[in-house]
Amino acid sequence: MPGELSSVEAYQAAILSAITPLASTSLELSAAEGCVLAEDVTAAVALPSFDNSSMDGYAVHAADVAGASQESPATLQVTGEIAAGDIGAYRLAPGTAIRIMTGAQLPAGADAVVPVEWTDGGIAQVAIHHSAEEGNAVRYAGGDAAEGETLLTAGTRMRPMQIAVAASAGRKAVTVRPRPRVVVLSTGDELIEPGTPLVPGQIWDSNSYMIAAAVREAGAVADRRSVVPDDPKGMLPALEDQLAHADLLITTGGVSMGGEHDVVKAALRELGTVTFRKVAMQPGMPQGFGVIGQGGVGAKSGVPIFTLPGNPVSAYVSFQMFVRPAIAALQGADDLSLPSVRAALTGPVRSPSGRRSYLRGVLDGSKVTPLSGQGSHQIAYLGRANALIIVPEWETRRSAGDEVDVLLLP
Ligand code: AMP
Ligand code: MG
Repeated sequence: MPGELSSVEAYQAAILSAITPLASTSLELSAAEGCVLAEDVTAAVALPSFDNSSMDGYAVHAADVAGASQESPATLQVTGEIAAGDIGAYRLAPGTAIRIMTGAQLPAGADAVVPVEWTDGGIAQVAIHHSAEEGNAVRYAGGDAAEGETLLTAGTRMRPMQIAVAASAGRKAVTVRPRPRVVVLSTGDELIEPGTPLVPGQIWDSNSYMIAAAVREAGAVADRRSVVPDDPKGMLPALEDQLAHADLLITTGGVSMGGEHDVVKAALRELGTVTFRKVAMQPGMPQGFGVIGQGGVGAKSGVPIFTLPGNPVSAYVSFQMFVRPAIAALQGADDLSLPSVRAALTGPVRSPSGRRSYLRGVLDGSKVTPLSGQGSHQIAYLGRANALIIVPEWETRRSAGDEVDVLLLP
């Protein structure tokens, strides 16, 4: 039996090897957030591009204020004022000072700025009671980056900091791989929409809302569709209908280990391009992944599809372990795996032999508390978790106090 299982890593590798990054496109900076660079961004000019002051104060020759102190201040004539944005050409004569604001160009000849706090704030002349080293409060041209320097490399996700870097590099638009469009479908005859009355035997669909939210949290665009019934004939057309506007398809349900109601599995298996396997993990053992719609009229190279297990906790864990890295790969990035820390268990846990457990837990500093409800249907417990506790395949129990690997949930 364990021989039939794929390892988590082997399955992840199989997924990544089947994913082709989306075509790149040029987007203006305001639309590029969350996209991934498909080019390097270089500095159009040195950063900063001119010597400027880092403080409000006085531009001086350092030699003119050498030895200045509270007891014997240096007094200099103030010959002008330079504000940020002033593009005039100024020159500082020896023995004088020019009032200067943060971000304003340093006048030619000046080699230091005395902050206003070290002075009497004078207008026509200024008493300076502190010496300033050459370069004091000066931001030199190129001190952040040289002209032509590579500031961002292809594969970098455009977060707010990187947007600022691109703007500072003079870029109006950048070439990126866009946020993938992900269609999310729940399958199951028992599912009804939250907000409609429940009849015994039915449950409210939570997976499609959860997975759509997780898709958005991973930086992609979610398109949640209404529930697809367990209809063997209707399943494939229902999925194919979505191909035109999807970069990735995610279904939940209908892939259990062999029931005849597993219509997702039955419909997709026929295509031959979707593989169903058991992965050595708990929850989330039954997994399906492949590419559908290949060679169709749309000239598109096919749409990857994940068929996640129906139990909500299984679907959630599977999304985090397999779909997040796939979303990153569609963007030509590899930055969406969950961060991992080490923490000490506050209580004992059990795990099936030969399968890696991802137990729901609450991480608090360096301690992690396993939740008591570890059933893969127990969504109420999932709602209390902020972490997944990993118990490796070769362990069947861990005790309170043991150090374990813990994945932080986004
Ligand atoms: P299945 O994989 O279709 O056999 O479903 C396994 C379990 O997950 C069953 O108890 C289903 O009722 C439940 N389930 C499937 N889909 C959903 C969903 N969208 N929301 C909540 N529970 C679901
Ligand atoms: Mg089902």
